[in-house]
Amino acid sequence: MRKPFVAGNWKMNKTIAETRDLVSRMSLKLSEISGVEKVLCPPFMSLLAASALLEGSGIGLGAQNMHWEEKGAFTGEVSPAMVKELCGYVILGHSERRAYFNETDEIVNRKLISAQTFDLTPIVCVGETLEQYESKLTREVVSRQTSQSLRDVSPAFAARIVVAYEPVWAIGTGKASNGLEANAVAKDVIRPALAGLFGEETAQAIRVLYGGSVTSSNAAEFFSQPDIDGALVGGASLKIDEFAAITESAAV
Ligand code: PEP
Repeated sequence: MRKPFVAGNWKMNKTIAETRDLVSRMSLKLSEISGVEKVLCPPFMSLLAASALLEGSGIGLGAQNMHWEEKGAFTGEVSPAMVKELCGYVILGHSERRAYFNETDEIVNRKLISAQTFDLTPIVCVGETLEQYESKLTREVVSRQTSQSLRDVSPAFAARIVVAYEPVWAIGTGKASNGLEANAVAKDVIRPALAGLFGEETAQAIRVLYGGSVTSSNAAEFFSQPDIDGALVGGASLKIDEFAAITESAAV
């Protein structure tokens, strides 16, 4: 049995003051929902404020990115040791990182190995661009991203990894994929790639999320699919009622 998982990626939104306000109101609602692992991922600057407010709430805290090195001359970067002081989770390889900051599968993999070292639960994002989707390259691209981004970690740690299938054309566009298509990628592409790395049993234990314009109106369509275990939510995670409704519909 894979426990459902819903994470909110706030991206570059909310100041510290705004975070305090949103987290305190949102956590009241989310705390009432059980049967689902819940994680909020505000910007780095807001993690300290959010961690104080979330203590004892049963809601996890995640960073949206990190460097792979523990420390050193990497101006402007945040290390896994710093993330670990406040967070239990970290998003790795989000398509915006891949597109705007040139993150490759190799870089994502270094960060993943670092997450293993620092005992952080990673949410690793994979997904094809619109051009790749239209050229029918989804399977090839997602399989390669999964195999290369997730290599070289121990099977025990692998079972903790959360994979988010996020078609780039569906992120922030209001054009979500559909349940059947997303499930087919999870079942026929991501899980076989995971099985190739870690064996069938571990592949079946790893949570696979869908992400891309998830709202309270379409969430149930994705969560009713057997190989989709929850969602990584962007825009809708900034709206209390929307995010609570999505979280509720993932709960078992
Ligand atoms: C995301 O940023 O991971 C995402 C899925 O965004 P949105 O829900 O806004 O499409």
